[in-house]
Amino acid sequence: MNRDDDDLWLNTNNGKPDNEWGTDYRFVFLRPRNSHQLVKAKLPLRAVSLWYIACMALRLTSYGGAGKVTGSNFLIEGTKGRVLVDCGIEQGADVAEAEAYGPFPYEAASIDALVITHAHLDHIGRIPKLVKDGFRGKIYMTPPTKDLAELILNDSVTILGQDAARRGENPLYESKDVAHTFALIETLEYHVEKEVAPGISIYLRNTGHILGSASVRMTDEDGTTLALTGDIGNSPSPLLPNWEPITDADALLMESVYGNRLHPAHTERVARLRDVFKHAIERGGTILVPAFSLERTQLMLYELSNFFEAGELPRIPVYLDSPLAIHVTAVYEKWGPTYFKPEAEEEMKRETSLFDFPFLTKTLSHEESAKIEEVKGTKIIIAGAGMSHGGRIGRWEAEYLPDASTTLIIVGYQAPGSPGRRMAEGAPSVRLNGRDVINKAHVEILEGWSAHADRDQLLSFAEKALAGKRTKAIFVGLGEPAAERFLAQRIHDYLLPQDSRRGVRRRVIIPALGETWEITKEGVKNLS
Ligand SMILES: [Zn+2]
Repeated sequence: MNRDDDDLWLNTNNGKPDNEWGTDYRFVFLRPRNSHQLVKAKLPLRAVSLWYIACMALRLTSYGGAGKVTGSNFLIEGTKGRVLVDCGIEQGADVAEAEAYGPFPYEAASIDALVITHAHLDHIGRIPKLVKDGFRGKIYMTPPTKDLAELILNDSVTILGQDAARRGENPLYESKDVAHTFALIETLEYHVEKEVAPGISIYLRNTGHILGSASVRMTDEDGTTLALTGDIGNSPSPLLPNWEPITDADALLMESVYGNRLHPAHTERVARLRDVFKHAIERGGTILVPAFSLERTQLMLYELSNFFEAGELPRIPVYLDSPLAIHVTAVYEKWGPTYFKPEAEEEMKRETSLFDFPFLTKTLSHEESAKIEEVKGTKIIIAGAGMSHGGRIGRWEAEYLPDASTTLIIVGYQAPGSPGRRMAEGAPSVRLNGRDVINKAHVEILEGWSAHADRDQLLSFAEKALAGKRTKAIFVGLGEPAAERFLAQRIHDYLLPQDSRRGVRRRVIIPALGETWEITKEGVKNLS
């Protein structure tokens, strides 16, 4: 409950037992609603405790991921415990925006537990900083997310170190902070209820976004529930199971990255991918694919492998030039047999790998990577980072973008200000690794390869949540403002009118950064 709320003040120093209500009394000051007059009352402690229980609630504060796609970070406070969901980094023009370097708006040591929805950097990138700042609780995530998060954080410590050096700041954290982080991780499978903080338990469900991705439903000891979706997948995926609906939360916070856009159907986007590669190969230059190491790269390898196997593309050398993506692909191979959708699990049992083919070269070392340049003729280079912030793609872009026979294939979300966004918007030159590079390449933007649900899938997610009858409020977050507004408006216009006909009042809310909302079984209230 909120001590600053207008309902109750407590003076806890008095009281003597004198009847069956219990052994202790408290003086309480009550302020009736719509009144400024306080009323003093002497109540048995048991009655006060019952009052407390009646006032129990969860409180949700968005400290990231409000009006922004990146930097997911939510504080949930129950009657007794405090839990964070996600501790991501804000990404834009730089791999870590200036905000990432600032202090957390809460005491890191006061947090009981951290729950991670999935291993993307914008959901995990500041965990080592939280640990460095004093967090000592457990960090919960699914087993595949643990493997992926360890790879991503080991990789990001290097990239963030370079980023900090460029801007003349101390690094956000160091390798020892990452090692301390790993010691706090505890894995939790989907569909297991687990108490993670005093009075707060969590329950994870698959969101079909990337391997191991989860939504988290939190339950306070009074039974109030709040669910946060993390990122919702672009289902159906050829690899992952479809997202699971959430119908049992009093309030739901859902993502909205593609809240105002539609993806083409899977068959259409595979056909277009094949055509784009075909034309790029005919053009004869180098084909660059800045790839997100997680999920997108594995999807690209899976589809390329299918094209080559079916004889739909001429066999040309393909390089996976990203140590991170190579290691992540190994994690996909490790967990695929148990975490993929049944059809993909079957396929994995039949074939040794879904992501390998005879003329694919994985270049782990710098020496192997450097040799790619010596290979003349058409070739495909898949390299990170996905938004062209650093990584090996920057080197290949600097080399090949000035050549008009090059094709650059953009297959994912590009944050405003990122080099990838500038290229997608047709900028004639782009700043890469500190220097301006002329871009004469043929740029192809492939829609639909995002690992995020599109606007219709998000609306369907909201519809299923509201069909459960329990959900009184949907918070729309984790999107750019236009996407958040569009999705919230659609939920309001399409899904809520049925409620008013039944006399039910439910709300759709776009929470502001730093705003605190109280969630009870009856509804939600803004406390800010
Ligand atoms: Zn994500």
